[in-house]
Amino acid sequence: MIRIGQGFDVHRVEPGDGMTLGGLWVPCRYQIVAHSDGDIVFHAIMDAMLGSLALGDIGQLFPDTDSRFKGADSAELTREVRRLCLVKGYSVSNLDLTILCEEPKVGPVRDVMRQCIADVLETPPDQISVKATTTERLGSLGRGEGIAVMASVLMRAH
Ligand SMILES: [Zn+2]
Repeated sequence: MIRIGQGFDVHRVEPGDGMTLGGLWVPCRYQIVAHSDGDIVFHAIMDAMLGSLALGDIGQLFPDTDSRFKGADSAELTREVRRLCLVKGYSVSNLDLTILCEEPKVGPVRDVMRQCIADVLETPPDQISVKATTTERLGSLGRGEGIAVMASVLMRAH
C-alpha cells in the first residue's frame, strides 16, 4: 500500500545573516520571520507526510498559539511526525522538494541538505531530492520578500 502527500509553506524574510533549511544553517543576506525556528523545508515536509495519511497539518499538531512551540526545533517536530506515521504503519519511500527563492543559492549546499533531511527521516539520501528555482524576479518571492517550499512525498506501508 502506498500513499502520496503534498506540502507547501511560505515565510516572510527580512534582512539577516542566514536561515536553517532542512536542518542545515545556510548563510545569506536574509533570515526567516517565524514563530518556530522557521525551518520552512521541514514545515513543508511535515505537511506532506501528514497529508499523505490524512492526519491534518502542522498547524493542528503544533499550533503557533502554543508557547511550547515557540522557537521549536523543526527537525525534532519532523521526527515526531515520522513516529506518528510509523504508528499508522507508514514510512517515507521518497521525497521531492522544490525551494523557491532568490536567496540563498541552494546548489552549493544541496547534497549536505539532502543528507540532513535523510538523517531526520531515517531514509537513504538517494530517496531525498532537493531542487530549487527562482521566480525570475517576479512577484513577492522574486523581490526577495519571502521564501516558499513545495514537498511531495510517497509513503509506503511496512
Ligand atoms: Zn512554516
